[in-house]
Parts: sequence; C-alpha cells; structure tokens
Amino acid sequence: MKLPFSEIPAEGLRLTVGYGPWFPDEDFPHCADVSVIVSIDRKAGGVLLEGELVTVVELDCDRCLEKYKFPFEISFRLVLELSGHESSIGEHGEYACSSNDMDTMFLDEPVVDLDSILQHQVFLAIPLKKICQDNCKGLCAKCGENLNSEHCGCGNEINDSLFGVLEKFKG
Ligand SMILES: [Zn+2]
Ligand SMILES: [Zn+2]
Repeated sequence: MKLPFSEIPAEGLRLTVGYGPWFPDEDFPHCADVSVIVSIDRKAGGVLLEGELVTVVELDCDRCLEKYKFPFEISFRLVLELSGHESSIGEHGEYACSSNDMDTMFLDEPVVDLDSILQHQVFLAIPLKKICQDNCKGLCAKCGENLNSEHCGCGNEINDSLFGVLEKFKG
C-alpha cells in the first residue's frame, strides 16, 4: 500500500493491516494471525508513523536446526522525511529539535510505502541469534543427533558440558 503525503488528512490516519504480500513469508513463515495497527500523522516537513505489529513466526534454531515458534510484539516509531533538495525543511532549523529516540527515514518522493516499511520492521525484529530455548543443547558434534530430545549413542557429551559452561558465564 502506497500513500502519498498529500492524501494524509490533517487529523491523521489510523489503519489496521492484516497479513499480505508484504509479509516476508519466504524467510519467516507466519503461524498465527498477523495484526498491525498503524497511525500516520503529518508533521512539519514529513510524516510520523507509529505502529504495533503482532504475530508469531516460525524460525529455525541455529543450534539444533529444529523449527520453533517466535512470538513478535513490535512497536515502532518512524519519522519519514524527504531527502535532497525537494525538501523545504532545514531552512528553518526544525532538524535541530528532532529527538533521537526515533528513527528517521529519508524518502525520495513524498509517498509512504507502508508495505516495505512493515516488511522492514519484521526483518529488524528477527533475533540475530535464533535459539529455540535458552538451554538448547544443539546437535552432537560427532553424530549429529539432536541432544534436546535424546542422548546420542556415540558417547560424545562435549556439547552438553560446553554449553553448560557458556550459560554460567552469561550468568
Ligand atoms: Zn534449538
Ligand atoms: Zn553423538
């Protein structure tokens, strides 16, 4: 969904968005309803976009490679401003008071591309290290057995003790 700045009314917009082609299912398949609430407001020189995105996605654990469910509850707050010379702001010093607890996104044209913004928020919320549970034991380095569900027959318990030690250090 693309929304030109000029179509945003002075009182702002409140939108509810559901699952759609914007959701990066190829990378992170969703396994619960996708629900997004967005409010879009005009502000000096741009647009303020605030929203909440709730769903559950299926991820692959980096340690044991099993799929697991990862619940999302993302809140985001973005300022969209025009980049380059088309922008009329800057001349009056509005930038000076922009607070730094918000992300600012610079656009080439005065259009809110909601789909790509929402998709980006999903990518941002995926943890760098995907672990199915804090004490995931991973796979046996020797025989490849998933050590969460059973002890392997090869007698290689090195993963067990190694992760035990790491957990302690994280403390
Ligand atoms: Zn795991
Ligand atoms: Zn083994």
